[in-house]
Amino acid sequence: MSQAPIFPGAVDAAGQPATLGVMGGGQLGRMFVHAAQRLGYFTAVLDPDPASPAGRVSHHHIATGYSDAAGLAQLASLCAAITTEFENVPAGALQTLAATRPVAPGPAAVAIAQNRIEEKAHFTASAGLAGVTCAPYAVIETPAQLAAVPADLLPGILKTARMGYDGKGQVRVRNTAELAAAWVELKQVPCVLEKLLPLKAECSVIVARGWDGAITGFAPQYNLHIDGILAVTAAYEGNMPSALATRARAATESIANHIAYVGVLCVEFFVIDDGSADGALVVNEMAPRPHNSGHYTMDACDVSQFDLQVHAMAGLPLPQPRQHSPAIMLNLLGDVWFDAAGQPQTPDWQAVLALPGTHLHLYGKLEARAGRKMGHLTVTGADVAGVRVVARQAAQLLGLPGLDALQ
Ligand code: ATP
Ligand code: MG
Repeated sequence: MSQAPIFPGAVDAAGQPATLGVMGGGQLGRMFVHAAQRLGYFTAVLDPDPASPAGRVSHHHIATGYSDAAGLAQLASLCAAITTEFENVPAGALQTLAATRPVAPGPAAVAIAQNRIEEKAHFTASAGLAGVTCAPYAVIETPAQLAAVPADLLPGILKTARMGYDGKGQVRVRNTAELAAAWVELKQVPCVLEKLLPLKAECSVIVARGWDGAITGFAPQYNLHIDGILAVTAAYEGNMPSALATRARAATESIANHIAYVGVLCVEFFVIDDGSADGALVVNEMAPRPHNSGHYTMDACDVSQFDLQVHAMAGLPLPQPRQHSPAIMLNLLGDVWFDAAGQPQTPDWQAVLALPGTHLHLYGKLEARAGRKMGHLTVTGADVAGVRVVARQAAQLLGLPGLDALQ
């Protein structure tokens, strides 16, 4: 597929400046808007929330529902190309937009990421080529499938096929009785039961693929999740065994190529203990967009994941990013805005920002809630040891858990 490039700063015959659009106005949309505007594009955001983080910083904010016909028509009339910041955009909305505008990633790719059953089938057909498999699983859509679940999938995790994120829509089950109860708890919607695997580590790979099939991206990130939410990302040489890193990148490229993906794609992997020194890779899920685990690229690389998102959708050349600093990213959840007694507090930014190589990103959300992603802090430095020391100090000042798990 090819796409005529949309150049930043161009103005069409009707006087309309080159404008890029995004479905969804959260923090990922906001960082996309910042990257697009830096290059010289105008931006448009469609998000129903009048106070959405991206809507507040965009040239245009269309505050309608995602399936609103008038809102979609307005987005299409403003924009030369459109992307998405979250995978649960209604499939029909992207199809409507794609009828008249380049949409990257396309509706078919987003539909795969919306459904764990389709996603696993896609992984089996594509990541399998790089020797990477999914966790053993069974599809549960009917009582008969529930009754037929093989015993060796237990203990396991029952996950809804659709609309899961940050560990939501998941129940851990030890036996068939708990499995049956969990399916009732999840309202008997289509689910997958995954075997509970012995995780050594988790990692993710972010690539960008252009309309012409060119592909570029970043080395794998090492990720630490707490309570199903990303807490820490470590991005530097040696963060994971190099053979695994190479294989994870190959699997990700295969996953993107197999569906002629266009845009930024993040694939999440588990490293499981299989008795070998390195462990084995298992592919978990994909996000058809930039990812929380790639936020460090804004401060540690010469080209960020959001820059690649802009380049890919606009048909510009895809540069190979160069990481110039080792980095550790700490997610800042709303919990940081409350003290041990549950009273609201202002985090000690004065002390945190006095630490060398700290880069604070807050998303413009006015109300802090436990578990809500409010911002992140990236620590960069000349060497890994120094970055680790500062990341620990920052984590301590902010009361963040998880740093002890980093080697
Ligand atoms: P995300 O916000 O990443 O989209 P999600 O809600 O879609 O999250 P998963 O990524 O499937 O959920 O799972 C969340 C976390 O739960 C994983 O990062 C991992 O720590 C743990 N987990 C999930 N599946 C398994 C498994 N089969 N075995 C062991 N741990 C698992
Ligand atoms: Mg996940």
